[in-house]
Amino acid sequence: MNYRSPPPSAPKTCPYCESHVEFVLEKERPLKMSEREHRFFVAGQAADNREAYYSCPHCERGVVVTRRAERTFVFPHPPNLYAPKHTPDKIAERYASGAMNLRSSRWVSAPADFRAVLEMTFPGPEGRKRPSADKRIERAKAEGRLPSPLDEMAKVVFITGNNSLHNHPIEREHVETAKNYTKEILRFVYTLPCMKSQSKESPPPSP
Ligand SMILES: [Zn+2]
Repeated sequence: MNYRSPPPSAPKTCPYCESHVEFVLEKERPLKMSEREHRFFVAGQAADNREAYYSCPHCERGVVVTRRAERTFVFPHPPNLYAPKHTPDKIAERYASGAMNLRSSRWVSAPADFRAVLEMTFPGPEGRKRPSADKRIERAKAEGRLPSPLDEMAKVVFITGNNSLHNHPIEREHVETAKNYTKEILRFVYTLPCMKSQSKESPPPSP
């Protein structure tokens, strides 16, 4: 009996429509390799190299999953929807919404989401009329919560969000910049302090 390894498994989220779906296996076969590639694999490993074609039952588009030397590759790769570590849940959820809207080319919703993420991160004093985004960024900067150049990045995120809401033309690269800047700011505000406090708890060994 010939040993036949199972096809590489399907992703859990569709990279096109973002649905969490059970992908349909359309076809699978041994991975075709060039002679040069063959030289890198011992026979046992090569037998396990397979390629599978799946389709999304929701949007009917296809993904290719390849297993090569025990590693699995998905094409196209699903978007990274996760906010940096230690971002509070509510804010991380809004960030994921922005990332999903960006993926789906929703040029109004995505920048508005990233703007909202920063509004939630720097809410300003409560109970009074909230100061403008500019004032809140200045204040965070003065208090050392948002050093340069992150303050400039925050301004860009706010401006992109405003432009989208006022129907100014927005290009994909503007929205991608807003996403990347938002991510850097979240990393600084939420991830970095936790890394610092963890390293205080367990100091590195002295030389
Ligand atoms: Zn889909």
